[in-house]
Amino acid sequence: MADAGSTASDAVIRYQSVTFSYEAGEGPALDRVSLNVRRGERLGILGPNGGGKSTLLKLTLGLLKGYSGTIEVMGVSPAEAAKRRLIGYVPQRVEAELAFPITARHAASMTATIGLGPFGSSAAVRERVERSLALVGALEFADRPLGQLSGGQVQRVMIARALASEAAILLLDEPTVGIDPAGQRQFAELIQKLHDELGLTTIVVSHDLRTVAASSDRVACLARTLHYHDSPQGLTPHVLAEVFRHDAAAIFGDLHVDAHRASDCGHDHHHHGHSHEHGKGNGS
Ligand code: ADP
Ligand code: MG
Repeated sequence: MADAGSTASDAVIRYQSVTFSYEAGEGPALDRVSLNVRRGERLGILGPNGGGKSTLLKLTLGLLKGYSGTIEVMGVSPAEAAKRRLIGYVPQRVEAELAFPITARHAASMTATIGLGPFGSSAAVRERVERSLALVGALEFADRPLGQLSGGQVQRVMIARALASEAAILLLDEPTVGIDPAGQRQFAELIQKLHDELGLTTIVVSHDLRTVAASSDRVACLARTLHYHDSPQGLTPHVLAEVFRHDAAAIFGDLHVDAHRASDCGHDHHHHGHSHEHGKGNGS
């Protein structure tokens, strides 16, 4: 679909025919992706592993260079948006930070204090950090080392960090990986709350259909190209079959993939490989 989304004027992020390859001569990881992200919406980006979801986020954050097309974040380039800290990013995993013996509160304050200098931990910033920790429900474990927290707790601290730096847009990459079902429900509730109370724009990227459906008003399906996007209710088995075609082929063999089986894959493709032997055809 050529230009998915609303008019450019109320968009907080505009992608226009964005194409990106990691290596010259390789096929593109993203191929002519166009999308407008609306102010204040909860957007889900659903797609198979390797579909280019993380690549799109990294381009948006100014972490990858050399794309063609246009990316505008609140009217400026990704690099400028990064400088102004317009986007809060909750990465898929934060192993590196977990290894440091810092407290949740310290971690939550880290982006907000950048550039303030040695005496920069101003009262205003400290208050913002406390408010953010309270909002995400992290105050009770704010003094504990990050490494002792559950995956869901660390995630809330990362969201508090983004809020403390006053980001208007929150990007979350595979936010439910390694989070138990109760934590996943809390996560969806928190996204709703941030939307309702702060008017934040959230973009949740995941290969998991339930995660996306629970935390989105609108879904874009990304498998190198943007396939479809509409309300979660608008995702039909046919669309899912198309989006997860390559994932399904890797699991079931490159036979024809019917819609029912492919939507199974969308739910839980990691667990179905061994129980669906009949799906294997002339492949592998
Ligand atoms: P997703 O997040 O949807 O799983 P990615 O954006 O991580 O997908 O990857 C998209 C494609 O780009 C995949 O084919 C992947 O192998 C490739 N890719 C990702 N990161 C790199 C990299 N640093 N160098 C080369 N290829 C990469
Ligand atoms: Mg990824």
